[in-house]
Amino acid sequence: MRLPINNLNNGFSQSKIKEILSSTNFISATFLGAFCLTCDHFAQSDFVRRNRVCAALLDTFTHFMIASWMWTIVLGGSITSKNVFQIVLAGLLASAMDIDHFISARSIHLKDATSLQQRPLLHMTTLIPILAIISEIIICISGLHRLHFFPYLFTLSWFSHHIRDATRRGLWLWPFGSTPPVPYFVYIASTLVLPFGTSLLMSATGSPMHAVQLHRVVHNV
Ligand SMILES: [Zn+2]
Repeated sequence: MRLPINNLNNGFSQSKIKEILSSTNFISATFLGAFCLTCDHFAQSDFVRRNRVCAALLDTFTHFMIASWMWTIVLGGSITSKNVFQIVLAGLLASAMDIDHFISARSIHLKDATSLQQRPLLHMTTLIPILAIISEIIICISGLHRLHFFPYLFTLSWFSHHIRDATRRGLWLWPFGSTPPVPYFVYIASTLVLPFGTSLLMSATGSPMHAVQLHRVVHNV
């Protein structure tokens, strides 16, 4: 079956680029940077460092907020009833990842989960492109083109978590090993720049047109 393509957006348009590089988005990114610095400042305070539960809750909250905020920038800074689901999903994907600490420790106790010798599976950064490609193929084969945003959302959410953790332990690039701890400014710069890069990339390649073309290749229609 041929899919309708007339109304679909293909490639860059000037208005789209203006929307991405808007002053609203730049102001939002500035506040996101301030938010990261504030949360990391609190995380270093004696009270939080002495309280394991408090540290874990703050860490989870920070991961959630950063990913949600980054995706809001990708969406052009607007939060509507239509896209709030995507914004919450970005936060959930980024914050729920640490559940692998408990799975790896085979324990529900925070002390065990935070005392692992090796890093848990979902913290492997090379897993991100693999899962993103698999999700793109599934979306394509199933014809669910409304979800074309998902591989980008997933990649941004998980990478936001990995790059923040990487300031302590580096990026785990199995099978190539791990990088040294990432400098703090690299984490902040990545957090601020990646939403703009993702949005530009999506407007160039992640449009419904792109998904329809992939669908045609897969189904030979
Ligand atoms: Zn983590």
